[in-house]
Amino acid sequence: MNIKLSAPYAPLVRRIEAEATVIGDQVLKIDHFLNHRIEPRFITEMGGELARRLAQFEPSVVLTAEASGIAPGLVVAQALDIPLVYAKKYAPQVESPAIARVIPSPTKGGETKLVLSQRYIVPSDRVVIVDDFLSNGRTAVALIEMAREAGAKVLCASFIVEKRFKQGHAAIEALGVPVATLAQVEALENGRALLTQPAD
Ligand code: 5GP
Repeated sequence: MNIKLSAPYAPLVRRIEAEATVIGDQVLKIDHFLNHRIEPRFITEMGGELARRLAQFEPSVVLTAEASGIAPGLVVAQALDIPLVYAKKYAPQVESPAIARVIPSPTKGGETKLVLSQRYIVPSDRVVIVDDFLSNGRTAVALIEMAREAGAKVLCASFIVEKRFKQGHAAIEALGVPVATLAQVEALENGRALLTQPAD
């Protein structure tokens, strides 16, 4: 595999270093271009870079979770010219048969139910997961389990940002799924994000 799945993507690394808000030592906020206000050109560039790394898996569908996964999922799906399916959180009445997982909500506390209709992930599917952040990996692991329960293959799980000091990367690899990310946060300290640096 020649393309490095987790090479730091310099335009994103630079923007996180210069602009992100760091809350304590756990939470990184990039609401102004990804999670609240979205910059179409920049998210399309990031989606294009993730799609370039994912193309080698010849995926047939992108799978993400409502709500913050939809924007990055859509731009990756568009670049790969394949459909996007998102597991529902807020209106979990989907066409049957349905698959569900309950996961902790990392940013809001409590629990959330993810629901997926088996009409939209089928056994012939080659799935790639796309989400905004990888933290403990509970969301991505639930998506991988649901896709597998539907009979599909999961080829890769990809994220705009991963927090390397959490358990998510290892949890996904333990399921035999490679991980692709554009920015890797090594630590959050004194209001600053320390990131893996691009090679150039
Ligand atoms: P996980 O399931 O990997 O523990 O958490 C992933 C989800 O939690 C992401 O989809 C994202 O919505 C949210 N999340 C986790 N950590 C952060 C963070 O540091 N910043 C932001 N903005 N969202 C986060």
